[in-house]
Amino acid sequence: MSNRRDFLKSASLLTAGGLLAGKAQAMPVSAMQAAPVTTANKALGLQIYSLFNELYDDLPKRLAELKDMGYINLELAGYNSGKIGQVDMMEFKKMAEDAGLKLVSSHVNPPGNSPQEFFLMNYTRDQLPRVKEFWKAAADDHAKLGCKYLLQPMMPTVKNHDDAALIGEFFNEAGKICKEAGLQYGYHDHNWEFKKVATEEQIKKAHPFMEPGDPIEDLFIANTDPSLVIFELDVYWTVRGGADPLEYMQKYPDRIRVLHIKDRAVLGQSGLLNFQNIFNQMYANGIQDYFVELEKMPDGRSQMVGIKECADYLQNAPFVK
Ligand code: MG
Repeated sequence: MSNRRDFLKSASLLTAGGLLAGKAQAMPVSAMQAAPVTTANKALGLQIYSLFNELYDDLPKRLAELKDMGYINLELAGYNSGKIGQVDMMEFKKMAEDAGLKLVSSHVNPPGNSPQEFFLMNYTRDQLPRVKEFWKAAADDHAKLGCKYLLQPMMPTVKNHDDAALIGEFFNEAGKICKEAGLQYGYHDHNWEFKKVATEEQIKKAHPFMEPGDPIEDLFIANTDPSLVIFELDVYWTVRGGADPLEYMQKYPDRIRVLHIKDRAVLGQSGLLNFQNIFNQMYANGIQDYFVELEKMPDGRSQMVGIKECADYLQNAPFVK
């Protein structure tokens, strides 16, 4: 009954989370306690980064275990020149499909200019041909994998509005290339995107107690073509950036089309997030796809244990359809 105990512990923290990250009242604890413990019957999504190298110690076995937990839709990480991690991408696809899993999405960054630069940080116009070439190859590969989304997860350097405008042009170009390959391009945030950058004019006019400027996330949204670029909101990093994921979903219902369902560690345990409000808004906005994500487990237990507990949380949550 440890799952049940953990679940109740999470449920009590959820109420506190309602004060921090959502406008509506959190579900009363009594209602959560009354929820039946269900078997795995919901189609959950998972960002495979959550498993680190544990995924690869026995890939077919791990994929089968994910299916047993209720994960059906995978978002890939670690794409590089036709491989996912160290595995040929088409072999990965076959193993996933054999396990009953779908490759729905993938996180990919344009590479940097040197081995030290893990991904391209400083966008300048002369980088555009190289970056377009990269997206063309990545889009063609992901079309072969049958993915629906190709998402850029890491933020390039943004010091001012001009940087954000130039990056918007790069995102639009990536969006066009992906669209031609039959994929939807998008951008995934961390916490840095909720920092503000300000023009001279905004600084001059600023209220003394208010931070002037615009959040970088809002500039990325404003500087990209809605027909080419969507946004995957990472609800945990949004909160860590000092913003409310619910407000963002309400403000940009047509732009935020995918979610990362994430907490500081196992879902529902930190009290930072009100997942009931987040799922309700997700359904109200018609968002179809979300992926659970887990950073390194803080208590030394395995990532597989952590994502099983995340799956149990969602399987038992009455607000998850
Ligand atoms: Mg994320």
